[in-house]
Amino acid sequence: MSSPSVTNKQGREVDASLLDRFAAIVGNKYLITDPAEQEPYLIEPRGLYHGQTPAVLRPGTVTEVAAILKLANETRTPVVPQGGNTGLVAGQIPHAGDLVLSLNRLDRIREVDATSNTMTCDAGVILAKAQEAAAAAERLFPLSLAAEGSCTIGGNLATNAGGTAVLAYGNARDLVLGLEVVLADGRVWNGLSKLKKDNTGYDLKNLFIGAEGTLGVITAAVLKLYPRPRAVETAFVGLASPADALALFSLAGERAGGTVTSFELMSRTSVAFALRHGPGCRDPLGAPHPWYVLIELSSQAAGLRGALEDLLTAAVEQGRVADATIAASLDQRKAFWHVRDMLSDVQRFEGGSIKHDVSVPVAAVPDFIAQASAAVETLIPGCRPAAFGHLGDGNVHFNVSQPIGADTAPYLARWDDMGAAVNRIVTQLHGSISAEHGIGQLKRDLLPEVKDTVALELMRAVKRTLDPNGILNPGKVL
Ligand code: FAD
Ligand code: ZN
Repeated sequence: MSSPSVTNKQGREVDASLLDRFAAIVGNKYLITDPAEQEPYLIEPRGLYHGQTPAVLRPGTVTEVAAILKLANETRTPVVPQGGNTGLVAGQIPHAGDLVLSLNRLDRIREVDATSNTMTCDAGVILAKAQEAAAAAERLFPLSLAAEGSCTIGGNLATNAGGTAVLAYGNARDLVLGLEVVLADGRVWNGLSKLKKDNTGYDLKNLFIGAEGTLGVITAAVLKLYPRPRAVETAFVGLASPADALALFSLAGERAGGTVTSFELMSRTSVAFALRHGPGCRDPLGAPHPWYVLIELSSQAAGLRGALEDLLTAAVEQGRVADATIAASLDQRKAFWHVRDMLSDVQRFEGGSIKHDVSVPVAAVPDFIAQASAAVETLIPGCRPAAFGHLGDGNVHFNVSQPIGADTAPYLARWDDMGAAVNRIVTQLHGSISAEHGIGQLKRDLLPEVKDTVALELMRAVKRTLDPNGILNPGKVL
């Protein structure tokens, strides 16, 4: 291990002897100072931020996490918690001088309790592994997102992740019964309760869920499990407009309510990018359509196929659906989802993409898409909205690719201008500027513009109480 001296953002040096004290906690092998080894912890999925750190710490136990935070607090050393590093608002990326605290060695599934329908996981467990552990016990852990092969339970809870099953099961927050959290001063709060009912005071776990690592470090969680659906039916639907998709959503609620587990809206532009660049992506429908919906029904009982066919037939008769295909096999269902899951990743092959993760009331989604598309096209003629999202949650990923042939850097330099135009519409429609990705660094300066003043005061008061020295993920969220 080499021990460089690095200046942190308060201008204070993190010197070699302090790093040696952290190394004494985790062991030299797990304190990374080599720049090449640090690199994967310093870049983020979109390449917009590049962090710097004196060291990445990789503790292997909760006791080590506690000792790290105690020392960090005593020495006023900033610490950035990190899980799978898939976050999309750069909350996990350090400012120069911040230590990175990677939780990825805490990767044990502590218990699956199929009778209580709970699973207790370390924070560093990869989401896909948690899903597999639940399935092995004939249960479902329903959180599902395209990054599930690398994001972690700790990161999912710290960002209150959403994804494609929120419609039926809620956000990450709704899937938690208990938490274990290391506080800024190194104390460990053991809140690993399995109880559905426990009205003994404030609901502390919900302070840490969605706090993006600014209030405490989540080290484990008790998660809710559900029965594994016996029947799943998936359709890929072509339609003319978001208004038709919304009509189909209402009809689905009336005809198949309670079994609709996903309702994903996709623009032709976003799907065309996936078909062009996504390995193994094929168009499920014979001809292109301006918009698509991926709808999935699931339940314990059989008979869903008929319900889905009836629903689509009724929607065709009403003139809301132009074409649709129902997956005939598991492979076909996976192929539909593969197209959906690639939508975000493939946008980089089309040059710069300015992203907005917003939500509006479900009924306002068509309005939002129409107004936002017009606004960005006025601002940057030729830009290409490639919107998609979780229509059933009112959540649109309003991502806008650069005009064909444009230079990427000057296009991306317009991010704030375009964001202001889009967010103005979001605000007019009583929506949120961050539906599921969080605030992090990317949207930090926007928060005071959109958040209620009293809410901001309360957030700052909570932060001061739980992290009086400001060592936990400084410069993020607030
Ligand atoms: P990281 O990126 O490592 O960290 C995210 C934040 O959580 C940071 O602020 C970090 O400091 C904090 N943090 C991490 N671990 C802890 C911990 N143990 N204790 C306290 N704080 C911690 N998100 C969605 O909500 N829905 C989607 O559909 C979705 N799709 C995605 C698709 C792709 C292709 C990609 C790349 C990302 C997607 N995301 C989505 C964003 C991202 O995957 C989620 O935010 C995820 O929950 C982050 O988990 P992570 O382990 O990677 O956390
Ligand atoms: Zn999403």
